[in-house]
Amino acid sequence: MRIVNLNPDSDIGASAWFVELDNFRLLMDAGMHPKRDGRAALPLYSEVEREDVDAIAISHCHHDHVGSVPVAMRHFPKAHVLMTDLSHCLLGRVLHNSVNVMLRQREEHGINDYPLFTHDQVEENEVQFQGFKCNRPIEWGALQKARAGLRSPDLEFFDAGHALGSAGILVRGKSQTLFYTGDVCFHDQTLQRAARFCDVQADVLIMETTRGDRLPPPGFTREGEIDRLTEAIQRVLARGGCVLMPAFALGRTQEILALLALLMEAGRIPRQPVHIGGLGRVFTEIYDQKAHLANRWHTDLKLTRDLQLVVLERDQLHSMKLTGGRLFVLTAGMLTECTPAHDLALRMIGDERQAIFFVGYADPATPGGRLKASKPGETFVFSAAGGEVTRRCETDDFDLTAHASREALLDFVGKVSPRTVLLGHGGPAARQWFEEQIRDRYPKMKIIQPAPGLSVEV
Ligand SMILES: [Zn+2]
Ligand SMILES: [Zn+2]
Repeated sequence: MRIVNLNPDSDIGASAWFVELDNFRLLMDAGMHPKRDGRAALPLYSEVEREDVDAIAISHCHHDHVGSVPVAMRHFPKAHVLMTDLSHCLLGRVLHNSVNVMLRQREEHGINDYPLFTHDQVEENEVQFQGFKCNRPIEWGALQKARAGLRSPDLEFFDAGHALGSAGILVRGKSQTLFYTGDVCFHDQTLQRAARFCDVQADVLIMETTRGDRLPPPGFTREGEIDRLTEAIQRVLARGGCVLMPAFALGRTQEILALLALLMEAGRIPRQPVHIGGLGRVFTEIYDQKAHLANRWHTDLKLTRDLQLVVLERDQLHSMKLTGGRLFVLTAGMLTECTPAHDLALRMIGDERQAIFFVGYADPATPGGRLKASKPGETFVFSAAGGEVTRRCETDDFDLTAHASREALLDFVGKVSPRTVLLGHGGPAARQWFEEQIRDRYPKMKIIQPAPGLSVEV
């Protein structure tokens, strides 16, 4: 088996893995780097340019895993794109939104590479998207190979518990198997139930390492964190301030909305409208529609019915009064520029009644990361568009992660019992922690941290 890590960065970056097994070639994920612009955000497709890729398999619909699907399809026009049924409901919407974002960035930041693909292209691509049920082997080889009597390795999706439609991918060859975790969560969230990777075993494991550098504080529990967030929201509303919770449109937004709905239901926070963004609304509707098909809790909770959701247009953000205790759940999670959350945060930062509560990861090099790191009264550069600000608002950080803890992942490695582990989707310190721990606990396993573009034979 040959594997090439196509992530252009040694950080979380853009997920894309090329795999060759039994003479079949597969691309797993085709992401886009969230912190890079233009072509530099793409996976290193040039490294596998001459390869005849038979199929593209997608783990889930977050931008860092699917943002460059149309570009990958230009490189590998024959390849069908395989995903779970639930991801199939999302992927087109995600990619059309990417086109809109790129067009806006071209206009506002002069990034001339953009858009890297068009709405028309996404529409053409969609014909080749295929949704499958989890826990069922899929045949995916090209037709001409089947005619020649060649049988592709089976491919199978396993629910990854990370966001709607997320899956780990098992590839079962004649004599070797590969398992790719994608982004995985081994604990229950408010809506999403924990991953169901069953008793999957594989010779080779490609694993995400997002939380490898996160040591949970002593006594930490998710329930405790939710209580802390609830009390913080109560406090801000009582003083007439507003709460902004920056959140990614797919997954995080619905988790937070569900939490707010349950808190209102229980009378812990007052019933009131929740302001969200247009894209958040689109994915929230899909969450509601697919509630009974998803591996989730509260299937009878319909967010669009049980909450008063108010969709905010970007121009409203500049004039809306920030009094009387409003709730905002807006993209982007890291307050990146040209987003509603960025613009609203900019209005709130200097006002001590307001609160910005982070409920997900914010990279230190983003406006969200800089705000998170700031001290009360500190002046710092928030963003190029926002310039210098003095922080007077309340900020706090709540750990409601959709990624497995490092201990849970380490146990999982033992269960899969692979010969070789490839570490990806994490910063250098995170991967290093896993390398050391795996070496300690499972000394026979070979551990590889494949550098960008490096081809490894396993
Ligand atoms: Zn993800
Ligand atoms: Zn990811």
